[in-house]
Amino acid sequence: MVLYDLIEKSRDGEPLLREELIFLLSMRPDSPESYLVMAEANRISKQLTDNKAEVHAQLALNLAPCPGNCTFCAFAQKNGIFSQETRLTAREAVAYAQQFEKAGANAVFVMTTAHYPPGLFLEISQEICRNLDAETVLIANVGDQSLADANKIEEAGYAGVYHALRLREGIDSGLSSEKRKESIRNFQEAGLKVGTCVEPVGPEHTNEELADMILFTAFVNPAYSGAARRIAIPGTEIAKRGTISELRMAQIVAVTRLAMPRTVLGNCTHEPCTLGGLAGANLFWAEVGANPRDTQERTEEGRGETVETCRTLFHECGWSIYEGPSRYYQES
Ligand code: SF4
Repeated sequence: MVLYDLIEKSRDGEPLLREELIFLLSMRPDSPESYLVMAEANRISKQLTDNKAEVHAQLALNLAPCPGNCTFCAFAQKNGIFSQETRLTAREAVAYAQQFEKAGANAVFVMTTAHYPPGLFLEISQEICRNLDAETVLIANVGDQSLADANKIEEAGYAGVYHALRLREGIDSGLSSEKRKESIRNFQEAGLKVGTCVEPVGPEHTNEELADMILFTAFVNPAYSGAARRIAIPGTEIAKRGTISELRMAQIVAVTRLAMPRTVLGNCTHEPCTLGGLAGANLFWAEVGANPRDTQERTEEGRGETVETCRTLFHECGWSIYEGPSRYYQES
């Protein structure tokens, strides 16, 4: 297989095949060939977005030990990081959302753990929506939903959701991969655009698994795809498997960009880093409140980045910042 042929194929808008993605993922992340893939991904992302990246910002409505028990998540009951639930009041949630809006976030995300009461989520969401500018893009990051509940989320003022079929779903997570896929269909049927990602990548994931997941994300025609590495939660069993380097993550971000149709404008990575931005990521997240990758109750005091820092990281690797409501979540 010749790398230049694959790049040409991608330039011609032809979808890359599974074995071609595996070939790209198999290159050493620090090889000149891999840097070429990153450069091409960067070129595509910049061309699609007029060199303007986006920063989205997430607030968490609650922090709770979660029976979903995904081994990589700080909220998983079995990880024993948090023993008690804490919830934001509507007023606190509105204040966070307004802070993000003021900072220029292109979309505001509202996250909950999987078992947060749906009625309360809708109630606080409506309150947030009422207190933001009409054009501010609101995105839900919640558990699996029926079509009826997805419709209610759309009616509450959300333009879209973040939802991912995670790597080794049902093995490293306590959730069902079929339910994850069904939820993605339900969200789309309800008129919500779905942003997704290849995550959480660890050193044990094979190139074949990554290629399959990249192709799945392309198949759902997302608002954006991308790749995110697993962050080790100290003291957990899964932390022993280790963490991939930012460079390996950047390589996966780049291969994901090449594999997505050009109708998909966004390419995300998390956590925000210049190597990701250099390899074609044009979406980073800022975070406040609880964070599934952090043992701090308020991630703004821990791993969470601010909108301003995310913007700076993009500037450092040659990106400008898009001002205004997210283009990734607009109707296509
Ligand atoms: S990822 Fe979601 S479902 Fe899984 S443990 Fe964390 S909050 Fe619960």
